[in-house]
Amino acid sequence: MRSIDYSKKILKSTSYSGNSLKNQKEISASMLGSDTQQALLRYKYGVIEEYNVTQASIGSLVHLGLSEVDFGVNVHKEIKYSMPYRDWKITGTIDRIDMNNNMITDIKVSKTYTVKSILEDPMHQYRLQLNIYRMLAENAYGKEFNMQLEFYDKQGGFNYRTGSEIPHLQYIPIDKIDNEILYEKIDEIIDFVELGQEKQCDDVWIRKIGSKAVPTRCELYCSYKQVCSQYNPKPETSMIGW
Ligand code: SF4
Repeated sequence: MRSIDYSKKILKSTSYSGNSLKNQKEISASMLGSDTQQALLRYKYGVIEEYNVTQASIGSLVHLGLSEVDFGVNVHKEIKYSMPYRDWKITGTIDRIDMNNNMITDIKVSKTYTVKSILEDPMHQYRLQLNIYRMLAENAYGKEFNMQLEFYDKQGGFNYRTGSEIPHLQYIPIDKIDNEILYEKIDEIIDFVELGQEKQCDDVWIRKIGSKAVPTRCELYCSYKQVCSQYNPKPETSMIGW
C-alpha cells in the first residue's frame, strides 16, 4: 500500500500545475516562449488537474531531486519572485539563485532541443525565460545577475550511429536580452489575453507517419487539451515522440 501512496505523490508533484488561480492577472516567465493561444487558455482556466505522466514528468522529477540538494549558504532554491506591470504581475520561480556569485540557474531536461539549437536562437524560449528571471531578481535585489542553463540532455550518451558522445549534463551561459525587448514580448501576451479572442495555435508539431501528417504537440505536452477548441486527438499516434 505504501508504494501506491508514494507513486501517487510522485505523480501529483510531477503533474503540471500552471497558474493556481483562474483569471489572475499574472504572467509567468514560462509563458514567454509558449504560444499565445496556450497563454490565453492558461489565463482563462488556471490549473487543469492532470494526474497522468506527461512528457515533462522526467524534468519535474529532476527538479524534485535537486530541491533536496543543499547548495550552501546564500544559494536559494525555488523562490517565487514577482513585480507589478501595467495592472498585471510578472512572476517567476527561480530554480537556483546564487547570491555569492550573482548567478541564476534554470534547470531544463529536454530531448526536443540541443545545446546547438539553444545557442543559435537568440530568442529561444529558455533564453527568454531566464532573462525574465534576471529582470525579477535585479528588481528584488537591486544588483545585476548572470544566467546559465543547467541542461540535462535526454539524448545524451554515446551515439552508435555517429560514434560521438553527447554529455548528459552541460552548463550553458545565457546572454542578456534587453529589458525593452522583454517588455515588448510581455505586452504582446497581455494584449492578446485581454482581447480574449482565441487564435489558431501555432505550437503544433507535425510529424509524418507514412504519408499521413499527424499533430503531436497537443497529445504529448499541452495541459489545455481538455478545454481547447482546436484539440483534435489522434489516440493511435499519441505516443509518438516519446
Ligand atoms: S491543445 Fe493543441 S492546439 Fe490547443 S493549445 Fe494545446 S497545443 Fe495548441
